[in-house]
Amino acid sequence: MKREVEDAGENAGQRFLVDLMLMRLGRWLRLLGQDVAIPAKESDKVLLDQAKAELRTIITRDRGLFQAARGAGVLCLLIRSSKLSDQLAEMARAGLPLRLDPKWCTMCNGPLDEVDEVAKGEIAGRKRWRCRSCRKLYWVGSHWKKMEDMLQEIRSRREKNAG
Ligand SMILES: [Zn+2]
Repeated sequence: MKREVEDAGENAGQRFLVDLMLMRLGRWLRLLGQDVAIPAKESDKVLLDQAKAELRTIITRDRGLFQAARGAGVLCLLIRSSKLSDQLAEMARAGLPLRLDPKWCTMCNGPLDEVDEVAKGEIAGRKRWRCRSCRKLYWVGSHWKKMEDMLQEIRSRREKNAG
């Protein structure tokens, strides 16, 4: 099959489009360094058109949409689980690296820039990023540890299953 996505960058330039049912997964994928768009409208036609125009792989739990995408020659990943950690495990099976690597804003999918300046009373050396579009600031904090723990849990579960 002809590869429909452009090959650029270390992750083969794969970009995604999540359907609205998978918004939470989509936000996580952005924290894992993935460019994830959300559709303007919850309509299969809008989704398919957007995926085609922007060369994105659709991520969905909707079997009907999955079939429609295949018919239209659009790359599509069918997610089976309704549980976030299992959904991430499914993405890992599809080849997604499970490591935190924030590149895209979880709110608006704008590109993140690493910021160096330290404001008064803040701890230096703490990694931070700012969204170029909506200016939201991200940093490595206690929530980060929780996310790392969850990814670690998924990774070790995968290793157990593989062995
Ligand atoms: Zn943003």
